[in-house]
Amino acid sequence: AIRMQGVHKAFGDHVVIDHLDLNIEKGRFTALLGPSGCGKSTLLRLMAGLEDVDKGQIIMGGKDVTYALPAQRCLSMVFQSYALFPHLSVAENIVFGLSVRKVNKHERDRRLQDALRLTNLGGLEHRKPGELSGGQRQRVALARSIVSGHDLCLMDEPLSNLDAKLRHSVRHEIRALQQRLEMTVVYVTHDQTEALGMADHVVLLNAGRIAQQGPAQQLYEQPENTFAAGFIGSPP
Ligand code: ATP
Ligand code: MG
Repeated sequence: AIRMQGVHKAFGDHVVIDHLDLNIEKGRFTALLGPSGCGKSTLLRLMAGLEDVDKGQIIMGGKDVTYALPAQRCLSMVFQSYALFPHLSVAENIVFGLSVRKVNKHERDRRLQDALRLTNLGGLEHRKPGELSGGQRQRVALARSIVSGHDLCLMDEPLSNLDAKLRHSVRHEIRALQQRLEMTVVYVTHDQTEALGMADHVVLLNAGRIAQQGPAQQLYEQPENTFAAGFIGSPP
């Protein structure tokens, strides 16, 4: 679904993404894994169009979107901070983007009911974000990305604000949803347990380059270089 070719990004003279080639396959759960500062969030923001590439090309669904605006890229994004509007209800938060995109009320209600059911938020739709737990707020953020109707979702450390127990259960919920809706998910994490446990395909980044990629088990059992060997399997 996404093809990045020779993508390069520097801030000043600090190269953050270094002539990177990457394919993200449709319907697959891909994890971008790597240490703090290796360029994971920047790579995701380049895909989303929130940053411009210096060099290279980004193709999505066969179309060149290298210079397309974020809204033209047909994707949704879930951030670490839930970015919910505190004065709006759960339901209003979930459909907010649809009102902006002029989806009609009937369709909006239908997608809202689906998203509430899929994320187990039924009964909470009239609450304000301040009246929810961390896990529930994260599910509102997920519901918001589901109602968008896009089948590509980019997630940047969506669970890092949750405690260990919640993280574990929401992790399973995200994976189950991704499989049920056959979504293409690109999931950024520095947590190898999360990446290896959830993803079909893991891309390990080191200083803006791909150190190794493949099925989770392959990274774990057959590290191809000292960086991969040192990163995978070392205590978090
Ligand atoms: P973390 O796991 O800590 O979130 P990351 O892999 O997501 O790390 P990025 O946020 O992509 O890392 O940042 C990669 C590098 O680029 C870091 O050294 C960071 O300081 C730098 N960087 C990111 N955004 C900017 C910016 N807007 N201006 C200057 N430098 C930036
Ligand atoms: Mg980051």
